[in-house]
Order: sequence, then C-alpha cells, then structure tokens
Amino acid sequence: MSFYGWRPYVPVAERRRKAAKELEKRRKKGLAVSPVLLSGRTIATTFWGKAWCENLERYSDYANRLPRGRAYLRNGSVVDLQIASGAITAMVSGSQLYKVNLEVEPVPRLRWKSICQDCAGGIDSLVELLQGRFSKGVMERICRQAHGLFPSPAEIKLSCSCPDWADMCKHVAAVLYGVGARFDHQPELLFRLRAVDEKELIASAGKSMPLSKTAPAAGRILASQDLEDMFGLDMANEVEVETTRRPRKQPAKPPKQPVKKTGARKTSQPARKRK
Ligand SMILES: [Zn+2]
Repeated sequence: MSFYGWRPYVPVAERRRKAAKELEKRRKKGLAVSPVLLSGRTIATTFWGKAWCENLERYSDYANRLPRGRAYLRNGSVVDLQIASGAITAMVSGSQLYKVNLEVEPVPRLRWKSICQDCAGGIDSLVELLQGRFSKGVMERICRQAHGLFPSPAEIKLSCSCPDWADMCKHVAAVLYGVGARFDHQPELLFRLRAVDEKELIASAGKSMPLSKTAPAAGRILASQDLEDMFGLDMANEVEVETTRRPRKQPAKPPKQPVKKTGARKTSQPARKRK
C-alpha cells in the first residue's frame, strides 16, 4: 500500500508471479500447499460441492456479496486452501497475498443425533454417502436450513488480512466458493470441518427409519439431481447469470416463479439476527 492508502493496480501476471514465489517459500518450509484449481468454469458438480454453494447463496446476508468471489476463484486466486476441524484457512492472491480465516462451529450434538436418527437406514455405505447417493428424504434432511449439516452465517466467522476488509471481501467470497470446489473432490472434509463422524450416519441403520421409508431403496438416485428443485434455483443458468455484471444492490439472480416446492424454503431471513 502506498503512503496515502492508495494501492496501485497490479496486473494479474505480476500477482501470479508473486503468489507463486510466496507459495514456493511455504513449500520449502515443509508446509502443505493446496490450491483450488477448477477444471472448467463450473465451481462444483457433485451433490456435496453444489449443496455447500447453494446453502451459502440462500442466506440474504451472503447472497449479494458472494458473486464476485466466483470470478476470483475461477482465475486461480485461491492459491492455498486448508480445511480442518472447525477451521478453514486460505491464501488468496490479490494486490498482495492475503490470509483468509474462517471459523465454522461444529454441528451441535443434539442436531447431529437428530440428523442421524432421521437418516437411519437411508444410507447403506460410506461410498453411497460420499457420492451423494441417497433418497430425497435423506437429502432434504442433510440440507435443511439451519438444522442440517451445512452452516448458517451465524455459525461462520469470517476474516481476511486485506485492507478492504468489511463484512465480506472478494477474497473471503472466493474462499467460500473454493470450499465447495474442494468438497467436490473430498466430501469427507465437510464432516471434518463440522466435527462429526460420517460413519455414524451409516451405523444408525436399523433403528428407526422415518425418512428412508418415504423412498424405496430402488428409488435411490444421485441426490444432486434433486438439489435444484429443493433450493428452488436453476443451477444450469448459473454461468450465464454471472457473466453479466450486476450493480451491487440488486439480487444476484433474477426473480423467479417458484417452481416446485419440495419443503425447503428459500427464505431471506437474516440468520445473524438470531443470537
Ligand atoms: Zn480480503
């Protein structure tokens, strides 16, 4: 930063070079470096990755600020992302290399118990769970707003070392999406992050079967196909929507006719008010 707090524009190539140098230093120190690299424009393609992103977007306090993180993530700015129990740490290449820290609360014991009970018998194996192969009932339970496995904004503390730091800068937004991209390949990290044991979802089989009863085993499908219905969003349009730049105050997506209501609401209640 210059003397008056004005930061000169740094070209992408220059930023990349600096970031690469910085990361090489970390590697030499023996620190793990794990960049988020997308294979195309799509951030997440599996149930777990998509559900993480859709969950964030359904909260109005995030929805307006998140979109600029997508472009940042796509151009390879999240140069390191580490997910541990209760904590996400990342390095993001901006005018400088910034450090992003996200604290995510564990799933409360009672909630986790209730999820396990409701999903009992609905997931046959760890492979099915991680592939997102389960009934619609199980999927809805896992994704239930504020009561499922995905955190609400009230359960996430955000921070970034950049000077633009406000509620959510583009570095934090890029990291939040980066986590979705990471869950595409390593869905088990969601369970680490939220400090629960995914095996308990399978071990509970044979007790009570309230949700799994609603769908026969043969009806088990890739849950990601049902995600769009459940969140009431058209994910196929995501790419087109974000290529057109929108003024900040407008909603990130065009208003839509409610399609099929399958239980989950796309509410716009600010989760932060619940203290
Ligand atoms: Zn920042």
